[in-house]
Amino acid sequence: MAEKIKLGRTELNVTPIGLGANAVGGHNLFPNLNDETGKGVVRSALENGINFIDTAFIYGPERSEELIGEVLKENGKRSEVVIATKGAHKFVDGQVVFDNSPAFLEASVHDSLKRLQTDYIDLYYIHFPDKETPKDEAVGALKRLKDAGKIRAIGVSNFSLEQLREANKDGYVDVLQSEYNLLRRQAEQELLPYAHQHTISFIPYFPLASGLLSGKYKRDTVFGAGDIRGNNPLFTGDAYLRNLEKVDKLRDIAAAKGYEVAHVVLAWYLTRDAIDALIPGAKRPEQIASNLKALDIKLTAAEIAAIDAIFKE
Ligand code: NAP
Repeated sequence: MAEKIKLGRTELNVTPIGLGANAVGGHNLFPNLNDETGKGVVRSALENGINFIDTAFIYGPERSEELIGEVLKENGKRSEVVIATKGAHKFVDGQVVFDNSPAFLEASVHDSLKRLQTDYIDLYYIHFPDKETPKDEAVGALKRLKDAGKIRAIGVSNFSLEQLREANKDGYVDVLQSEYNLLRRQAEQELLPYAHQHTISFIPYFPLASGLLSGKYKRDTVFGAGDIRGNNPLFTGDAYLRNLEKVDKLRDIAAAKGYEVAHVVLAWYLTRDAIDALIPGAKRPEQIASNLKALDIKLTAAEIAAIDAIFKE
């Protein structure tokens, strides 16, 4: 079973490999998802010792939280699981807008609690910034929910450095979740250094670049209708071919250690300052056990530098 680590300065003890659950009930994000398979993915995570599950109101919407709530209920070990969820999306006349107002965040936390069938959320994120709300006021609302025992840690996601600074004016931000992977390294410029300096734990989303960094995709892979990867710049045109070449260079490093590309990629992130834990997504239960193998890898300084160099080109 994977050993747990403390997530930054929070009191949350998590397995360094968690489960990103946007494909659990995330019918608005991925085509042909099956709810039973999604619940199977969550069960498989818990059975394999993963205790950190990342979801959001908008995955479904609502369905991901509901399915996780059902599995938590049947599992009966709520206190052993660390649940992270997010809110900010609001439907107005069928359109999504972001709302970070204290009243909306408070209502969102209460609605998430019901769907998750629990009386506290371990980590609650403001999923996206809105344009109107001062960010320290938004975080202030989460601080009151934390003091009231409704949430245990405060996160923000998709914030710029400026928004993060404002959010963290009173030092209340515990976790930052932003896009970061070997093919998209912009967070290294400002967000990762800020997080490290302020002991904010940085959780990268899309750690496998939506599967591209798993090493399984080929030059002739065709993504089905409705698969958003067909329109993702990382997966199209010359950029896709260049990305595959970089992934190919990782195969030798992975093979020499007896692992797969995905494992080496995940292990590399865990060597970065400010990164304590990862939340790779999984569409099938078997991907869970596979991703956990990343925790068995010890990368040498030379391997860490070699991987860095491949993706700096
Ligand atoms: P990801 O972790 O980069 O990629 C996950 C995908 O890679 C899986 O759905 C699966 O897709 C493939 N995969 C996973 N393990 C594999 C393995 N061992 N071998 C081969 N393929 C494997 O992308 P993500 O799931 O979209 O992002 C991770 C999590 O971050 C999400 O679940 C969500 O919780 C969070 N997130 C947050 C935000 C935000 O705004 N805060 C945004 C996006 C995501 P296939 O089987 O289809 O290849």
